[in-house]
Amino acid sequence: MFCEIDFMTSLTIISDERYLQHDTGGGDHPEIPARLQAVYQALDNSAFSAKFSYAAPRIAEREWLLQAHTEDWLFRFEEAVLSGRTFIDHNDNQVGYDSYDIACLSAGAGLAGIDLLEADKANNVFCLVRPPGHHAEKSIPFGFCFLNNCVVAARYWQQKYKRKRVLVFDFDAHHGNGIQSAFEEEKEGFYLSIHEHPSFSYPGTGYADEHGLGDGKGTILNLPLPPGGDDNQVQRLFEEIIPSQLEEWQPDAIIIGAGFDAHVADDMSGLHYSTELYQDIGREIKSWGQRFTGGKILSILEGGYELSVLGDSVEAYVRGLLKP
Ligand SMILES: [Zn+2]
Repeated sequence: MFCEIDFMTSLTIISDERYLQHDTGGGDHPEIPARLQAVYQALDNSAFSAKFSYAAPRIAEREWLLQAHTEDWLFRFEEAVLSGRTFIDHNDNQVGYDSYDIACLSAGAGLAGIDLLEADKANNVFCLVRPPGHHAEKSIPFGFCFLNNCVVAARYWQQKYKRKRVLVFDFDAHHGNGIQSAFEEEKEGFYLSIHEHPSFSYPGTGYADEHGLGDGKGTILNLPLPPGGDDNQVQRLFEEIIPSQLEEWQPDAIIIGAGFDAHVADDMSGLHYSTELYQDIGREIKSWGQRFTGGKILSILEGGYELSVLGDSVEAYVRGLLKP
């Protein structure tokens, strides 16, 4: 029997086998293709798998990449991989011959997702991509990130669909310096991040007193947690701090920088989140969608490196997004 998926209660997953080909050199680099494979496997085994539909990403068009990055950086990135370099600027930023094309495909997943959301062909989109993006600055790669997937998506939503008041909520263990620097001087575009305190954690930005500059004053909300920060502390932020801030911002589009490296088992941070906290995070975000954006949410994978818990953490997040 033909059974049509109800987009209002389903999750549209955007991913592509080519993401596995971004080569970070083997060795002990943590940002590896097996991350995505762990996520695919956990979602295949999910009790919610009947609610998933799948869509393809596209290569982000240069005009949209240029809304977040400089022409110089795009040329430098492409030239570095084509000339056989194995990293750019820092050993963290490992690349292979195909990494430029794959990074453009990673940035394009959000654009494909926004088109589906705006055409009412999806309600809840999760882009399972690599390389990740939130540390990438306008003209510099940082922390495994080359193109800032969340910022490219935000610019597309703002300019193509006139949804100016885009919120990016980033729950990766690390502060998304590249998202903050894109938004911090603008009055539209909001960045909310919960992360390990910058005194103890990469990249060293994201102090609570960084609220935005000039016209952008009040558009940045950093909520750093001390090492050992756990489920209770996150839940307290959801109850006590975040709701009034969202009411003030009144976002008309929501992008989630979904990173899973704050899990207690993931040694990329000192935070101590449980797997189940990710379900609570998903449920909370779902309620924001219902309040502000007609339920529409775009999530984009950022970090998460401990393969034994990454798949289950993503699956828990998805459960939170989908549970009635
Ligand atoms: Zn991270």
